[in-house]
Amino acid sequence: MRSLKWTYIFLVLSVFSSLFAQDQDSVIIKNLFDEALSSNTAYENLRHLSEQIGPRLSGSPQAAAAVEYTKQILESMDLDSVYLQKVKVPYWLDKGTEAAVVSPICGTKIVNTCALGLSVGTGKNGIEAEVIEVKSFEEMDELGKEKIGGNIVFFNQAMNPKRLNPLRAYSEVSKYRTQGAKEAARYGAVAVVVRSLTFTIDEYPHTGSMYYDPSIPKIPASAICTQHAELLSAWLKKDPHLKFHLKMNCRQMPDAVSHNVIGEIKGSEFPDEIIVVGAHLDSWHISPGAHDDGAGCVHAIEVLRLLKKQNIRPRHTIRAVLFMDEEIMQSGGKEYAAVANKNNEKHLVALESDGGGDLPIGFSIDADDPVIAKIQAFEEHLNPYGVYYIKKGWGGVDIGPLKKKCVPLIGLNSNLQRYMEYHHSANDTFDKINMRELQLGAASMAALVYLCDKYGLD
Ligand SMILES: [Zn+2]
Repeated sequence: MRSLKWTYIFLVLSVFSSLFAQDQDSVIIKNLFDEALSSNTAYENLRHLSEQIGPRLSGSPQAAAAVEYTKQILESMDLDSVYLQKVKVPYWLDKGTEAAVVSPICGTKIVNTCALGLSVGTGKNGIEAEVIEVKSFEEMDELGKEKIGGNIVFFNQAMNPKRLNPLRAYSEVSKYRTQGAKEAARYGAVAVVVRSLTFTIDEYPHTGSMYYDPSIPKIPASAICTQHAELLSAWLKKDPHLKFHLKMNCRQMPDAVSHNVIGEIKGSEFPDEIIVVGAHLDSWHISPGAHDDGAGCVHAIEVLRLLKKQNIRPRHTIRAVLFMDEEIMQSGGKEYAAVANKNNEKHLVALESDGGGDLPIGFSIDADDPVIAKIQAFEEHLNPYGVYYIKKGWGGVDIGPLKKKCVPLIGLNSNLQRYMEYHHSANDTFDKINMRELQLGAASMAALVYLCDKYGLD
């Protein structure tokens, strides 16, 4: 009887203490959101990164300036440590692309193009050839060497607008950008022009990575804006023998030394167990990278600022990592994981923001089911702020190499419906950033980091 009474008292106390902890969490999370929504710190940091520093491809002087700028921000935050991690990065230099359609029937028309990342140049005289339009590799295979040889292949496959998830539409056709040059070169093409990867019909060419096969000749690869892709297709119907003039002034430079930028708050109970919150600091050479991934960088920095502002002394070490070179070789992410491995560091979880600064809607997790279930239990705390799901899915490119060490990976998911309009183009400018959506992204990440730190994931 007596033991029953004590059991009862114990149960009542546990229920009260758990209710108290939940209530305490709600208050702390509300404070994190209140602070994020009433401060323009992250927004102004992003303004500087995208407008004062601008395009910052790995190896470039602007990438070095971005390293210096973000290091200074972290140093001004009274963190426990701020340091640079050396990374060897590729340096591909593009001094611009010119293109025009020349036709006795349609006239001479300038078209907006850009070089695809890592492409070879055309030489100073450029390339002039007839254009073969295709919508797929299969169509090109059917045309064969006879029709393709000596010509420029124009991959004009639009992203499927019926796909609700823009990344799905993107991944269905991105092969023409990444593999188009090597596939066309097999049939003797002299260059490729690839329709830009966006749903929007506009005047911005979108770049991105492409790859050669060492056993196949390297031919220049460019992207054309969607508006001119539509026009080129129409002009080809009027004059199938029109000439396309393409001049690309880009080349591979020797590898350069750059850095990942790291700032951390030391854990009070488990200083050797790390929670990473990361993003990539580089952006494409034509893009100020406000959304991709300047927004992610200021999110990561803001997570540390929000935790400090609330005087939260985390149990685990919270480490913001701004990775260099996600766009070309992902060398920053690989180097970070290699160093973590060498130093035998334990990572509790890694969270990445690389989906732009638009409205946060959820988190996706790349981990084992029991870990996912544990993180999903935090969802109720985030629902009131518009983060309406936590589900199994993609973590992130930069944190990806940590997967080998079985680190749970989490990606911040933002509303992506506008994202492809900016992605990898000169249109990814600061004026496309909504301050409140940016702030909500940072606060959502800070809240999740707070919960993972407090309750652990074991
Ligand atoms: Zn990115």
